[in-house]
Amino acid sequence: MKILNFVLPLIFLCLKLCESKPKIQNALMYLSQYGYLEPNAMGNSSLVNAKTFKKSLKEFQSFAGIPRTGKLDKLTLEVMSSPRCGIGDKVGTPGRTKRYVTQGSKWRSKSLTYKITKYTNSLGREEVDKAIQDAFNLWSKYTDLTFERSDRGKIDIRFEERNHGDNSAFDGPGGVLAHAYFPQFGGATHFDDSEPWIIGAGSGINLYQVAAHEFGHALGLSHSQVNAALMAPFYKRQWNNDLDRDDITGIQKLYGGKGGGTDPAPPPEPAPPEEPAPPQEPAPRPRIPGFPGFPGFPGFPVFPGFPRTPRFFPGFPRHYPGFPIHRRVFRVNF
Ligand code: ZN
Ligand code: CA
Repeated sequence: MKILNFVLPLIFLCLKLCESKPKIQNALMYLSQYGYLEPNAMGNSSLVNAKTFKKSLKEFQSFAGIPRTGKLDKLTLEVMSSPRCGIGDKVGTPGRTKRYVTQGSKWRSKSLTYKITKYTNSLGREEVDKAIQDAFNLWSKYTDLTFERSDRGKIDIRFEERNHGDNSAFDGPGGVLAHAYFPQFGGATHFDDSEPWIIGAGSGINLYQVAAHEFGHALGLSHSQVNAALMAPFYKRQWNNDLDRDDITGIQKLYGGKGGGTDPAPPPEPAPPEEPAPPQEPAPRPRIPGFPGFPGFPGFPVFPGFPRTPRFFPGFPRHYPGFPIHRRVFRVNF
């Protein structure tokens, strides 16, 4: 009996440890994928101590608007497993206050064009065409930006599954819903075709909402820490089909308001005082999205109105900081 008293707690402890290891591994992958943990110089492994892990976890919790416990509690795991955008949360320079973040590039022209080069089989083409145009129109509502569909459109829109040639494979049903390139990389927008896309409300993933969010990236906005913002990284089960004030302030910062002025509908938010830029962290070691025709490759046409000549040689980031980095191996030192 005495032996049992000793052995049983040990078995229990072993079970707990075995159970929590995959959770920690998954959390590490998640935190790394979305920019809360920096890869080390080798880019394929990282030694993370408990302090760094806790700090990153708190940063994530803060971004997600949940209590900063620094622990992998139920709520944190829930948020980590909820559907979201594939772009990292730390692109651009966030201020000290919670608000929109701009990535750092924008389109020079306000008259933009797009093309849909790969449709999903789960929705009618006309339905997709309408949802995509409606999503663009949401940004036109508060700016002078216009979006026209054309066979030679600049912004390339595709439904793709799993590995689709840009080094940022989709992950099947759930998790990542879509990702998009910022203006300096051409604005291409990809939707994960493993998702149950729907038009309008219902059980499934609302294409209009996700498209509108991704086009925010294609126009130069990063993720916002404002939970109500469309540019928050998580999919909204409840959404009022409109931009939040934070999104409007962000897009107008880049392109001005409707009629060249500021937002005519809600009164503009008083501009927060300029915050001193936090010390710049060394740039992550990016990877290159590598599908043919990716802006930046020699021979890629530079359209009139393209924001700036893509910098590929030299100084073009060797990977795209907004995208997840896969197959990184972690070890945690506790
Ligand atoms: Zn996003
Ligand atoms: Ca997915």
